[in-house]
Amino acid sequence: MTTVSAPFDVAIVGGGMVGASLALALRDTGLSILVIEAFAPESSAQPSFDERTTALGNGSRRVFEALGLWQRLAPEASQIRRIHVSDAGRFGFARLDAADFDQAALGYVVPNRVIGRELWAALRQAERVQFRMPARVTRIELGEACARLQLVDGQGESAVTARLVVAADGAQSLVRQAAGIEASREDYGQTAIVASLRTDRADDGTAYERFTEAGPMALLPIVTPAAGHWRTLVWAAKPADAEALLALDDAAFLSRWQQAFGWRAGKALQLGHRVAYPLSLVRAGAGVARRAVLLGNASQALHPVAGQGFNLGLRDAAELAELLAGAAAAQRDVGAADLLATFAAHRDVDRDGMVRFTDGLVRVFSDARPGVARLRDLGLLLFDMLPPAKRALSRVSSGFGGRSPRLTRGLPL
Ligand SMILES: Cc1cc2nc3c(=O)[nH]c(=O)nc-3n(C[C@H](O)[C@H](O)[C@H](O)COP(=O)(O)OP(=O)(O)OC[C@H]3O[C@@H](n4cnc5c(N)ncnc54)[C@H](O)[C@@H]3O)c2cc1C
Repeated sequence: MTTVSAPFDVAIVGGGMVGASLALALRDTGLSILVIEAFAPESSAQPSFDERTTALGNGSRRVFEALGLWQRLAPEASQIRRIHVSDAGRFGFARLDAADFDQAALGYVVPNRVIGRELWAALRQAERVQFRMPARVTRIELGEACARLQLVDGQGESAVTARLVVAADGAQSLVRQAAGIEASREDYGQTAIVASLRTDRADDGTAYERFTEAGPMALLPIVTPAAGHWRTLVWAAKPADAEALLALDDAAFLSRWQQAFGWRAGKALQLGHRVAYPLSLVRAGAGVARRAVLLGNASQALHPVAGQGFNLGLRDAAELAELLAGAAAAQRDVGAADLLATFAAHRDVDRDGMVRFTDGLVRVFSDARPGVARLRDLGLLLFDMLPPAKRALSRVSSGFGGRSPRLTRGLPL
């Protein structure tokens, strides 16, 4: 086994959505960065840059603008100009319109593959960023002055050292386990089916969130190279129902969807490939350990109902990049315990708020008791009539309170 003697400043385990974004944010800080990723971004097995689309809030757009990536994503980003929330079979509904908040859009939907393609195209140009890919980290030891990572790739086993290890390796994080951080996992008893879907009605920039007896579903506008009016469907159903839906042929699936969703987006005509994701809330007991920090899904994996998991993970990355850039400028140890404690303190409010918001939304809207359903109708109607409540929600994607990192305000590090 070969060991690279000089330690990297930062080793990022996982070059998916959050890890690759962090590496890009750190590229001009003077720090030496190593990204270790198990799959090439263009591989069909890549679990982060897969068939999904991601709804990016305005805070995330500003981060990508500040990183010089937005102009490359924009041609394939579909604007969300309106959000329509409804409860199937009930009278309550609520609307949010970007124009009411003097915004061009409430958010943007971008295919994950496009985000991966552009992040990695930019990273491959970055001088201070090295990568091992495809390579899998198999063991980590977190020492007093340094961390040692063992990895395996096509050449066999090797080891590297780093002053700081970043866990961007997703909900099953190996780094989290190696750091001895416990994680709680609550199964939602739901599986999300994701597919693209074509209807006979043109997209007018509306994202639909519909809570149905069969589970919440979102229908998002997307830009596709294929002709016709395509959207992304994310339908969360009980696992047995999801299995039954996946077993249907395309025509039968579309007819079930039409029944559950209604006709607001027109008549369903065609379905793309369906992919299933079991849903649970995973939460790490701590965000940092000796020489290690957890980001994105390694720290918290959320239900996709409000489309906030990546937006939150990107704010983790923006905050860490800012602290590391400051440490680099002051020639301080980037893995120092006080720096990591500051990171944890700065991220606490936003993380807690977003976990509670998303989890509460899933629970309130999957409660079928009649009293709860009536309260929900009332809540949606009141929300629809109350501009301050709408303003508060339209700002959710910029963070749930606490400190706003510079990048999320569109400022360079
Ligand atoms: C159906 C669905 C829809 C969603 N929609 C939205 C949305 O609209 N908006 C939004 O903000 N969020 C959304 N999310 C959440 C979002 O997908 C996640 O928050 C995001 O993928 C987290 O990124 P990550 O980089 O932290 O983890 P991951 O995406 O899990 O990436 C982890 C990376 O680490 C690599 N890796 C793992 N272990 C190792 C190892 N040992 N060695 C080397 N590499 C390793 C993996 O190959 C992978 O590339 C959605 C989630 C789901 C399930």
